[in-house]
Amino acid sequence: MRIPYTDILPPPTTIPATARSLPGAVAALQEFLHAPPPRDRDVRSASTVILTGAGLSVASGLADYRGTNGTYRVNKTYRPIYHHEFLASHEARKRYWARSFLGWTTLRGAAPNAGHRAVRDLGRLGFVSRVITQNVDSFHARAHPEMPALELHGYLRSTVCTSCRNEYPREGFQAELARLNPLWDVFLRDAITSGALATEDPHEKRARGIRMNPDGDVEVPEAPYTTFRYPACPACLGSPPTLADGARGKVEVDNDGAWSPTSNAGILKPAVVMFGESIASRVKEAAEEAIDGAGKLLVLATSMATYSAWRLAKRAKDRGLPIAIVNIGGVRGEDAFFAGLDPDQPGSRGVRVDMSTDGLLPALVHELQQPRFGAAGAPPGAVLSGVDNTAGGKNIVHQDHR
Ligand SMILES: [Zn+2]
Repeated sequence: MRIPYTDILPPPTTIPATARSLPGAVAALQEFLHAPPPRDRDVRSASTVILTGAGLSVASGLADYRGTNGTYRVNKTYRPIYHHEFLASHEARKRYWARSFLGWTTLRGAAPNAGHRAVRDLGRLGFVSRVITQNVDSFHARAHPEMPALELHGYLRSTVCTSCRNEYPREGFQAELARLNPLWDVFLRDAITSGALATEDPHEKRARGIRMNPDGDVEVPEAPYTTFRYPACPACLGSPPTLADGARGKVEVDNDGAWSPTSNAGILKPAVVMFGESIASRVKEAAEEAIDGAGKLLVLATSMATYSAWRLAKRAKDRGLPIAIVNIGGVRGEDAFFAGLDPDQPGSRGVRVDMSTDGLLPALVHELQQPRFGAAGAPPGAVLSGVDNTAGGKNIVHQDHR
């Protein structure tokens, strides 16, 4: 279940203490990634699984929840839509799709950043085998298609029918929204032309009367959301679905093809896990398997305020996996993740860095690409895939052994 947790969390304690500076943080994370897996773990599970959150996409111009300019800090009245509201209310859906119609342009125009590319490089270097993300922006898939991320909360690139579960590309859906809502389309084009949607400064956006929130949501005060129209599922329109009670569903549209409130089926929703919605069991199980098959967990740019993310870290902790967390500001229940840690350990058993991933991850990758001598030099993945590291590990991390 995806549940928002809007409190600002208490600030963290840096672990080890030397990780307060950028070089110190890089050194600690190097220790973490190079360390052999816990003694009781199979060597096959030596590599690290990464769990990412909204903070990783801030450098791409997208909003997060609790960062310096996060929605819960600059837009205190923000309240995301809940799944049950979306399903129950035509008015709520009009409001959601109107805001999403405006937000999609920014999301579509944004691109993965150096943080996503650093995650890609950690995979190529053999340190990371799996990525789990809470983000719905598809940036991991674009940055490293060879190591696809498990998308815990789904993705905005598609819509899904709540009756027949067919998925449709968001791009075509956007064109339908523009066709059904010509005045909104004019407003959107004007906003793009004036640059109102282009600025990355949330304060400037607010000055222009626009608020950007996570998940491609744009808020325009006083906007007539109630006039907004959205299309019905084409498959259900052609062949009405069977409802949960066995009755035939009714899917009706107006003269232009907009979903009519006389319908009781064929409603499209974004292919994201909305707040209050359960994560599909196959996704949940795949995420648990990724944790169970890993030797360490590296958490990036998330406060793990959603339970679905926090419970994965809890699972890692319960299974004895060392955990490293890089996030500006506090993380939900983080004291428990580092309880009992030797204060003098250099990072091999746990790291907590109160820093943005933007500069840190590329610096970490740069250091990991340098030759490292000694038996512990090769990344766990190199041992895994049988790369010969008997030559002292020199240059071993330059090999693409995937
Ligand atoms: Zn359908």
